[in-house]
Amino acid sequence: MKHFSIPKEVLNVTENLEKAGFEAFLVGGCVRDLVLGREPKDWDVTTNAVPEEIIALFPKTFYENTFGTVGVVAVREDGDAETEVEVKESLKVIEVTPYRIESDYTDNRHPDKVTFSKKLEDDLQRRDFTVNSLAYSVSKNELADLYDGQKDIKNKIIRTVGDPVARFTEDGLRMLRAIRLSAELSFEIAPETEKAILENAHLLKNISMERIRDEFTKMIQSTEPMMALTSLKKLGLLSYIVPELEEGVGIEQTKTHAYDVFEHLLRSVQHSAQKGYSLEIRLAALFHDISKPESRRKGEGTWTFYGHEVLGARVTKKILERLKYPTKIIEKVVKLVRWHMFFSDTEQITLSAVRRMIVNVGRENIWDLMNLRICDRIGTGRPKEDPYRLRKYHAMIEEALRDPVSVGMLKIDGKRLMEIVDIKPGPVIGYTLHALLEEVLEDPKKNTAEYLENRAKELVLLPINELKVLGESGKQTRDEADEEEVKRIRSSHWVK
Ligand code: ATP
Ligand code: MG
Repeated sequence: MKHFSIPKEVLNVTENLEKAGFEAFLVGGCVRDLVLGREPKDWDVTTNAVPEEIIALFPKTFYENTFGTVGVVAVREDGDAETEVEVKESLKVIEVTPYRIESDYTDNRHPDKVTFSKKLEDDLQRRDFTVNSLAYSVSKNELADLYDGQKDIKNKIIRTVGDPVARFTEDGLRMLRAIRLSAELSFEIAPETEKAILENAHLLKNISMERIRDEFTKMIQSTEPMMALTSLKKLGLLSYIVPELEEGVGIEQTKTHAYDVFEHLLRSVQHSAQKGYSLEIRLAALFHDISKPESRRKGEGTWTFYGHEVLGARVTKKILERLKYPTKIIEKVVKLVRWHMFFSDTEQITLSAVRRMIVNVGRENIWDLMNLRICDRIGTGRPKEDPYRLRKYHAMIEEALRDPVSVGMLKIDGKRLMEIVDIKPGPVIGYTLHALLEEVLEDPKKNTAEYLENRAKELVLLPINELKVLGESGKQTRDEADEEEVKRIRSSHWVK
């Protein structure tokens, strides 16, 4: 068998366990990923040692749970337990868990008791899916494969270990894990496993929203959120997570849309995944039209959806709060949903409207709003955005975001001017500042407090008429420079 490449932090754990006379296997998702040639997200080790024995073998560990899992912290090679070394996030802590038997899940979510075992087979039997039930001995370079996990990996199949109904009854979250893994790995769910989900979807009622949210997030963050959401709906799980989405099924839209509201939202979030956008943009893409069903009215020969973004922002907030997302994420997604109509309404696109939009959605969110628009457009099934218009939006945002050329750029202001020279508030201040601006525009190196203060002292000695001429000339130069700047932005986007 070919050797997998195992990071030294992981080797250190298995070698130490074996040196002390214990068994040690890599297990679960990391072995699955090794077989697939993917980089594991985290590394789990299973052993016949019990927590106290594991803790005794390593300089730095923590143990704060009831499942027997000991976190082994990577430390420097000289054994200095106080210093955490510079290692990859996924290798900082290696989780080591004794072989376990889980029994009697009376509430469909938590085993009533966790029993440690001396047999690897017991531990593999409690694993959710065959593809997650492989164990790998690094020292022997051997795979333990009791449930044909390698075959299912090869055929890209998610199948429960043992009877699917029994396994989902033990822990309903596994139904979501099946769909999440299939979306992350582009695997199919085995027919009997799928059937068991369909018939037992109600078990999700027993699962905490936090656990549901974590799986839901992984689905949205995967490369195939559309596939995950389609499965959630098909297998009857979506109504326990986001029933609001299902209301979009069959809701026909205006002529510009090829799809109903539900499919439009799925296609939008899929595009956001294709682009590798953040969770917030993905959630906004998924929910941006969530209130179209309740806002739909018959217009002249078409449908209207007035105000759906206002209602939609409210509904999105409700959904995300129910799913217990952190406030920061909720606030951002809600803002994006609230303002997503802006760029579709072409009449609104004046520079001052763009400025107002930036105030509404926040400077930090304006480019995400643009990206949301791109997802929204692609989600309609129409050909790509007219490239000219897209570039035009970009140019306008940059133009609105930039600081205009003005005396505000100077390393001196009116207040300071009045401190250093003996003048009263009045036109002389404006003339002087604009005369200084003209010099700085010609030679930006002159924009220092020292130069400007000295030069100001000379300027105020000039007869008022001469100073006025210099000031007026400065204003004109400023306007020209500002225009130049705008031209530069526009031409960098190839727009007029
Ligand atoms: P990821 O790539 O997201 O880490 P994973 O399959 O490794 O996916 P983890 O949550 O890290 O998922 O769990 C590690 C392993 O523990 C799984 O591969 C599986 O063997 C087992 N496992 C996790 N959750 C369950 C569960 N609810 N029921 C049974 N086994 C589980
Ligand atoms: Mg894992």
